[in-house]
Amino acid sequence: MDLKAPAKIANYIGGSLQAPLNGKYIDNINPATGEVYSQIPDSDIKDVEEAVGAAKMAFPLWSTTPAEERFKVLNRIAELIDANLDALALAETNDNGKPLWLSKKVDIPRASSNFRFFATGLMHFATDSHNMEDKAINYTLRQPIGVVGCISPWNLPLYLFTWKIAPALAAGNCVVSKPSEVTPMTGYLLSLICKEAGLPDGVLNIIHGTGPGCGAAIVGHPDIKAISFTGSTRAGKEIAATAAPMFKKISLELGGKNPNIIFADCDWDKMMRTSVQSSFSNQGQICLCGSRILVEESIYEKFKAEFIERTKRLTVGDPLDENSKQGAVVSKMHYEKVLGCIELAKQEGGKVLQGGNAIKGSGRCENGYFIEPTVIEGLGPNCRTNMEEIFGPVVTLQSFKTEEEALQLANASDYGLAATIWTQDVSRANRMAAKVHSGIIWVNCWLLRDLRTPFGGFKSSGVGREGGWEAMRFFTEPKNVCIEL
Ligand code: NAD
Repeated sequence: MDLKAPAKIANYIGGSLQAPLNGKYIDNINPATGEVYSQIPDSDIKDVEEAVGAAKMAFPLWSTTPAEERFKVLNRIAELIDANLDALALAETNDNGKPLWLSKKVDIPRASSNFRFFATGLMHFATDSHNMEDKAINYTLRQPIGVVGCISPWNLPLYLFTWKIAPALAAGNCVVSKPSEVTPMTGYLLSLICKEAGLPDGVLNIIHGTGPGCGAAIVGHPDIKAISFTGSTRAGKEIAATAAPMFKKISLELGGKNPNIIFADCDWDKMMRTSVQSSFSNQGQICLCGSRILVEESIYEKFKAEFIERTKRLTVGDPLDENSKQGAVVSKMHYEKVLGCIELAKQEGGKVLQGGNAIKGSGRCENGYFIEPTVIEGLGPNCRTNMEEIFGPVVTLQSFKTEEEALQLANASDYGLAATIWTQDVSRANRMAAKVHSGIIWVNCWLLRDLRTPFGGFKSSGVGREGGWEAMRFFTEPKNVCIEL
């Protein structure tokens, strides 16, 4: 295969590449250069209607295709993603601004893992049976739902897009999907891969466009019976408001404001190394980044000095340069938002210890959207800076005296996605893990992912869980069959 980013992206509907029916396009901008480099369909409800029609036609055959056949096709998609690692990684970096080494090491390999994981998963998926002694036997059928919608964000584009699509297809559904309009290229290239892999026409449809124009049409379509969404809490609320009265199944993976809780008895070197990563990886644009760093008072000054030193060493620059630890943030709009958040932190009384400014790139990157990794202290838990998601290379430091105070600070957020706890005291780690209000707790590590584990958030971080059997259960409808003996 020769995967090249085209000047004009097409929708993938019913197995063919199509222009949007309204003929409208949006600019696709490379955030490292600020230049428009391709055009994206500005699809609307008419394209969604076509995609739903194609998915409905494909459903009877796909949902009854033997598991082993479905496994083969999905596994072939994984193989083709691996075989096209370089082209996909370059497309991801040009769309998103993240360093090319990161796209190659994390984003694209994870996309193929998602397909491989759920391809094998479908071969092992089993259901319950409940025996009523000698009276009756109940068994649960888990049938595919039909046509489902998958909508994903820009921060881990192909990684999160495939995290939804793979289990939906593995469970026997047909899919109408939409990648973020900010980073559509790898979603488009996935269309070509699916075609090459022999995925039957209409089983997966990929439509490009904005949230209000195209995403909302997917959510509101009466024949799409379940929505798996990852994105902002704001959009999650809108989706829930549309889907709830239509009694759709929804899985919402939303924002975070995650605490990174550091006790004095931690493994210092590992904690320091990992905390720099958990603060700034992917320019801080990972929903799991620890943006609120809570440090035990007795080590606060030592932590601050070393953390600033290490943050200063993070080279920000051209994502194609392998020496760049940090690339560009995803768009001009997001760049302005993050810089606005830093200004707000100052107005709220925060002291910028490190960074705080935009960076002017050089050469081809002179109009790119680069921001210094930024460390702020002096703000309490109830200010906007510590309550609202920034989703950029910005962290705050707060200190605590006791375990109880650490817990209060950790839980002083409307979000509850992930938390990291650094301590060598196993009892304390267990106590804290049980009491911190978030769906994912890492003890002495960060972003260590086993795809079988439940993934999702408490409170404003979402509804439902993805991963492993949770995803297979979400994408199937359980039906109990009771047979009297
Ligand atoms: P976003 O909500 O603006 O957009 C996400 C996707 O939803 C895009 O494809 C967009 O076009 C679409 N969309 C927007 N409004 C919609 C609507 N009303 N109906 C249907 N679709 C709509 O989010 P974003 O800016 O792309 O991504 C950043 C956000 O995603 C952050 O809040 C981040 O925390 C969150 N996120 C969460 C997780 C998680 O697993 N919990 C993972 C990654 C990112």
